[in-house]
Amino acid sequence: MDSLSLIQSLQSLKSNGHLITTAYLDLSTPQKMRNAETIINNLYRYKKEKTFFKNLLEIELQSVEKDIEGIVKYIRNQISMKHRSLLIVSSSEAYIWQVISLGMEMENMLVIQDRAYLRPLLQAMSEQRNYAIVLVDQGKAKIIEKRLGHAVELWSTMNLLPENRNEAGYRGNEERKNQRKVEESVSRHYKMVLSQLLDLHKKNRFNWLILGGIKEAVAEFRNLLTAELSGLVFDEYQIDPNDALDKVLDRMSDSEETHRIIWEKQLLRRMEDEFHKSHKAVLGMKHTEEALTNGQVETLLLSENFHRKGWYCTWCGYMTMDDESNCPNCQHEMTRSVDISDDLAHSALDIGARVEYIAANMGDFSPVAALLRYSK
Ligand SMILES: [Zn+2]
Repeated sequence: MDSLSLIQSLQSLKSNGHLITTAYLDLSTPQKMRNAETIINNLYRYKKEKTFFKNLLEIELQSVEKDIEGIVKYIRNQISMKHRSLLIVSSSEAYIWQVISLGMEMENMLVIQDRAYLRPLLQAMSEQRNYAIVLVDQGKAKIIEKRLGHAVELWSTMNLLPENRNEAGYRGNEERKNQRKVEESVSRHYKMVLSQLLDLHKKNRFNWLILGGIKEAVAEFRNLLTAELSGLVFDEYQIDPNDALDKVLDRMSDSEETHRIIWEKQLLRRMEDEFHKSHKAVLGMKHTEEALTNGQVETLLLSENFHRKGWYCTWCGYMTMDDESNCPNCQHEMTRSVDISDDLAHSALDIGARVEYIAANMGDFSPVAALLRYSK
């Protein structure tokens, strides 16, 4: 599953007010794997000391208890070294059970609330922004996606070039005819790669693209790209598309971190422009919260170190960092949130907006801001 559909599927798990247990498990070493059960039990014991937990209804307690049993059973029987970490989302009451294998290290964590706790996953997705590598030459093409620490080959093709009959002694017209056939075949091949790339980009929304291949092929292919795709190209490599995936990734690994920094800078620059020139941006908790409620947000930007408790209204979605016991909009009782950035993220995902956790200093836009679909 691509990262976007993964997030959408997790976010769409609605519990109708039932509690959802979210566990992140670090399994990156054999020792961590052996300790996983103890860690879950310890985290659970610690949760049970909290006031929140002591105030739960009997039926809620039973549901959480069952979630923990299920997670422990899974740890005992099903985990293996092939996962670097696992995300488990469970709600016995709401019949929810999802296990997701992640390719990067995650901190151990157990959260019990009325929705899946997505912040660690979203943050990891921001740290490991997905991008595509397109390897292309006249005869071959491959599209590889890098996401959540994994590299996956999404598509590949072979272009069978017309036989080079020139060697058999054809001259003049025949040679030119043959040459034209080769050119047509290569051009069809590039167009097919482009159409695949467009489809995959629509689905997976790559943050950037890296092109690799024989120099001329890369140049020719780049000329065909749409303006949007062309704007996503960060780098070009002279590389043999037949090389093993590991070798390709190895050559590109240095630039990954650089791209991420540049990518964030570009996003913040866009934020600055939209805010000052076209008024298609808001900053601060209050305005961002309003824009989310109005469905205006295109991209929600959260500072990576923004970690604050808060309150939210399960009826109308109102969120605040201030201690308000009743919702100012609908007067319903507010629910306590352990991490208001997770609630902002949920609210953004609800309206189909992107969520970006930013590692760079967000300056005036720290800790929360949003790019809007249209001006205020
Ligand atoms: Zn409300």
